[in-house]
Amino acid sequence: MRSTDTVIRPAVEAPVVATSDVVVVGGGPAGISAAVSAARNGASVTLVERYPYLGGLASGGMVLVLDDMHNDTEISVRGLALEIIERMHRKGLCVYPPEADRHPSVRATEELWRKWARWGVTDFHSRTRPHPVVFAAAFDPDGYKQASLDMVAEAGVNLRLHSWFQSAIVEDGRAAGVICETKEGPQAVRADVVIDATGDLDVAAAAGAAFVEGGYIVTTVSRMGGVDTETAERFRFEEPERYDALDREARAMIGGCWEHWWLKTPLPGIVWCNCPHMTGLYGLKPADLTAAEIEGRRRMQGVLEFARENVPGFENAYIVDFAPQTGVRQTRLLRGEYVVTQQDVRDRVHFDDSVCRGRDYYTPYRALLPVGVDQLLVAGRHYSATPQAQKMSREIPPCMAMGEATGVAAALALDAGVAVRDVDVRAVQRQMRAQGADPGDEPADNALLAEAV
Ligand SMILES: Cc1cc2nc3c(=O)[nH]c(=O)nc-3n(C[C@H](O)[C@H](O)[C@H](O)COP(=O)(O)OP(=O)(O)OC[C@H]3O[C@@H](n4cnc5c(N)ncnc54)[C@H](O)[C@@H]3O)c2cc1C
Repeated sequence: MRSTDTVIRPAVEAPVVATSDVVVVGGGPAGISAAVSAARNGASVTLVERYPYLGGLASGGMVLVLDDMHNDTEISVRGLALEIIERMHRKGLCVYPPEADRHPSVRATEELWRKWARWGVTDFHSRTRPHPVVFAAAFDPDGYKQASLDMVAEAGVNLRLHSWFQSAIVEDGRAAGVICETKEGPQAVRADVVIDATGDLDVAAAAGAAFVEGGYIVTTVSRMGGVDTETAERFRFEEPERYDALDREARAMIGGCWEHWWLKTPLPGIVWCNCPHMTGLYGLKPADLTAAEIEGRRRMQGVLEFARENVPGFENAYIVDFAPQTGVRQTRLLRGEYVVTQQDVRDRVHFDDSVCRGRDYYTPYRALLPVGVDQLLVAGRHYSATPQAQKMSREIPPCMAMGEATGVAAALALDAGVAVRDVDVRAVQRQMRAQGADPGDEPADNALLAEAV
């Protein structure tokens, strides 16, 4: 087929299958939080998700550490992020360091590093070696799916899985719902407020909102089983030179990874491989995503064979699974009323209209508001930030916090009978605080933070 060939898709009628105050598109960390938060604040909510499960990259992408939620003085992302951690923890499906082991009251020591480094709960931003232990949570992907389903059901959200967003309903410059592709054909959901939580800005882009195309490394995340983690950890500390040599070889085969190519999970003997880093691939292109699946599997099969033959503890290792969802970190980014910059994140710039926080940075409400389309909010990794700023502010907890804030804003705007653009931001901040989240309305003491580094 010549690349210039096109066909016209015939117009189709889409029955309206649901009408609610709010429709949230995308059931990842941001979308779940938006839906639960809006519903708990009294709005009727429909949540549509393309896959048969909730959790997005946190579950289907098997991204298995909730981090970037603890700065040098406190746990800065609370609310629904902490709630889901506690729900999973109660079922033994989530591990986090107890307060007695954590920075800032506890100094980083070799002993603590040995105990926690392989859980991925040390501060990778820190210049201190060994890195201090922080509040972060290693969790099980199915645990995240179940906890999300429970929270959504308890909040009375109308959940529609297997529904792939296809187009936006925009009337007089105002978002009024969405049309999804399903096995039953196209289906429409009408709503007064639309929240785009697709991670790739599918809804806002289709509705005509301005955006930029970013891009970052892509990963086919996998898990290995049959690993004797105790032996593997002991080997690292008891034979550091041999370990370093083997680790260098493994990393060369992977071709790009963070400090540790495997981390422990709450399931005994099962480790998480948050690698390889693959460049030059764009997360919206089927051809690139196909290439990523093939190349990522090839590299990790090679590493498995190498580890089985050479690395103590990996003699009986096998691949449990590759994540059903390709690890795409960045695609389209909203150009909203405010665009968060790398400097804003680095300098911990505080905004008067901060409605949520990440580790030590703040998110203004304006960064969740598209220009030119009304009654549309955006939450999650596609929020209005420069590509560089997004790389530093896209982890799961801050995305959950953005979702929680948009849910509150939607419900309060509906209650007050005003457009979401005109919602009383002070009221959003107050409600976020009331439900246990930190809206970042009170700037942290930067002097104190700098002292603690
Ligand atoms: C490989 C990798 C490693 C990472 N490591 C970490 C880490 O260690 N710790 C951490 O906290 N964060 C990590 N992140 C970042 C984090 O996973 C994401 O930034 C976060 O999950 C974003 O949440 P989200 O809800 O905005 O988007 P997503 O998690 O992408 O969720 C979007 C949801 O929308 C759905 N959706 C998309 N399009 C449509 C459509 N057209 N119709 C219907 N539904 C749709 C998706 O199926 C999905 O459920 C990592 C990311 C990757 C890729």
